[in-house]
Amino acid sequence: MDCFDKSQPLKRTPVFKKRGLNDGIRFPQGFKIDNRRIFLPKIGWVGFYKSCEIPGKIKNITITNRGGQWFASIQVEQMIEIGNHSSDSEIGIDVGVKCFAAFSDGTLVEGVNSFRKHEERLAREQRKMARKKRGSNNWKKQKRKISGMHHNIANVRQDFLHKLSTEISKNHAKVYVEGLQIRNMSASAKGTIEEPGRNVKAKSGLNKSILDQGWHEFRRQLDYKLFWRGGMLVEVNPRHTSQRCSCCGYTAKENRTSQALFRCQVCGYEENADINAAKNVLTVGRTGMICQANHISGRQQKPAGTREEVLPVAS
Ligand SMILES: [Zn+2]
Repeated sequence: MDCFDKSQPLKRTPVFKKRGLNDGIRFPQGFKIDNRRIFLPKIGWVGFYKSCEIPGKIKNITITNRGGQWFASIQVEQMIEIGNHSSDSEIGIDVGVKCFAAFSDGTLVEGVNSFRKHEERLAREQRKMARKKRGSNNWKKQKRKISGMHHNIANVRQDFLHKLSTEISKNHAKVYVEGLQIRNMSASAKGTIEEPGRNVKAKSGLNKSILDQGWHEFRRQLDYKLFWRGGMLVEVNPRHTSQRCSCCGYTAKENRTSQALFRCQVCGYEENADINAAKNVLTVGRTGMICQANHISGRQQKPAGTREEVLPVAS
């Protein structure tokens, strides 16, 4: 097509919808719902499994096919009264090197192992598919199987993240996490001088996609769940959080004796490296070194300090 100049970024060539990618159809009107069936225009009554009560006013219904199964997403409009959070607890969370996440209260959240098991199975089935003749019946059968496995992995991940984010948003009013935009700028597999090898595990190996997607989705869930309960998710400047001693504030890369262990060269404090970082995230959040440029979902937060300050922990 000539009329679309590819050299100009704003006038992008339109992309056709592709069969099999994000297939779905939305019905903005003309639908009806009772307890066991949905009426869709031009289709008629279709039985469905009502997995939960439908609160609020129904705005539309989207039908999708995932892994050979049909799903109805029902969008509702609902007023939520936001009061004060029942607790005044604060917590810092850091992305784990060896685990999914580390909390400043000393909790390590695993979760990677069960994902790994799924990923290994998936890789095995994908190798099987590669050996089959493309387009053959056996190939199609294997493809359906793999698509089902992807769906299953996504469900396992969603379930894990929802349980975790619900629990945290119930127990803590303020949750501090690293500002991702800043972290991504300096992120590489080897790391920089400032943050040596932080992302080695996350950037390589089987767990990369699962960890990355999981962490983004986890923050998204935490953000809205905290907001609903009157709490708040706050992004902090992640600078030095992995090298600073959460006990005395001494900051040096020598403090990281290994990927997993933090040992302060001054006071001798020893801690799991991820938990030490989570404790720093909490301290940084409390002392107000909040990334001003990073308001999550556009909601108002009140930064109490500037970003570039490095505040040592008083001891
Ligand atoms: Zn120390």
